[in-house]
Amino acid sequence: MDDQHSLSRNYYQILDALPDHVFIFSESGVYLDVFGGEDNDAGFDCKPFIGKSLYDVTSQDMAEEFHGYIKKTLATNKTLVVHYHFANENMLTLPDGISVPNELWFEGIIKPLPLLEDGQKRVVWTARNITLRHNLEEQLKKLSETDELTGILNRRAFMAKLTIELHRYQRYKQNTSLLMLDIDRFKSINDLLGHQSGDRVIKHVTDICSKEIREVDYIGRLGGEEFAILLSNANLLQAIEMAERLRQKIARSPCVVEDYTIHITVSIGLSQIETEADSSEYLISRADKAMYHAKKQGRDQVRIFHDELCNHEIELTQHSHIRKNKA
Ligand code: GH3
Ligand code: MG
Ligand code: MG
Repeated sequence: MDDQHSLSRNYYQILDALPDHVFIFSESGVYLDVFGGEDNDAGFDCKPFIGKSLYDVTSQDMAEEFHGYIKKTLATNKTLVVHYHFANENMLTLPDGISVPNELWFEGIIKPLPLLEDGQKRVVWTARNITLRHNLEEQLKKLSETDELTGILNRRAFMAKLTIELHRYQRYKQNTSLLMLDIDRFKSINDLLGHQSGDRVIKHVTDICSKEIREVDYIGRLGGEEFAILLSNANLLQAIEMAERLRQKIARSPCVVEDYTIHITVSIGLSQIETEADSSEYLISRADKAMYHAKKQGRDQVRIFHDELCNHEIELTQHSHIRKNKA
């Protein structure tokens, strides 16, 4: 009997040494037992919860969410894997003087336990602190979406936002506009002052745009010195106003690079989502046509796409290296 007793004490010690938190929950969400957890010393000792309900120790929303996981696990009799986080406002009560990151992320693995003699249903829930992994994943995601030079969205990430916006249009029919910006006579900056100065000018322009657009708008770098801005829930008039504001702001904000002051202008083309069948490529190509029209009209201006721009024969007179095939 004594042997049996010390054996089970050993098992409890082993369970308490596990780095993950281990909870035994009743079907109604009561903590029947609590083991383990390597961050217990930092204020995450959950032993005091034994005998209490989820509804006693955390917010109503969170308790309902967790209780839902327990009920689902028991109803399906399958292991459930969930990710969840504690934000500061619903963080479990911590002793004074303990500081924690703004958010703590956990991976919970919830398994139904075999029925014991009392017939009560139970689950075992292991909770692993994955905050570090979560933060690294977030950083990687951000890096993969960001253009290195300017810090704005790269082409791939911008196209993804555009696709989401097109889906949103199909549901809500909100006016959505796209601006294409291209820096005027940029090559001469590179040629005369060097590539690095060119880079400074690109960053200068995107910084101005990022400051001017609303939080709901997106800006992305589509290529060298070409940028696109997605204005969600903006009608044509609002989009024109924004484009004009950007054009004027850039024209009035010279970029100082070493001993030189560079006056910059941009040409801007504007298109709007028109039908449910619109595609991101077509939307961009219309804004692009409007932008080239702005270039042809003398640069430093905003042009709106209209159907006639499609009917123009491409002017090849100055481009002897491109020839039209015979029909
Ligand atoms: P336009 O007014 O017709 O737009 O003339 P432009 O000289 O601005 O147009 P063009 O498209 O001929 O020039 C774009 C140049 O941008 C060509 C390329 O060498 C340069 N470029 C592309 N990417 C970068 C970059 O990341 N940094 C720098 N510094 N230059 C780049
Ligand atoms: Mg250009
Ligand atoms: Mg260009």
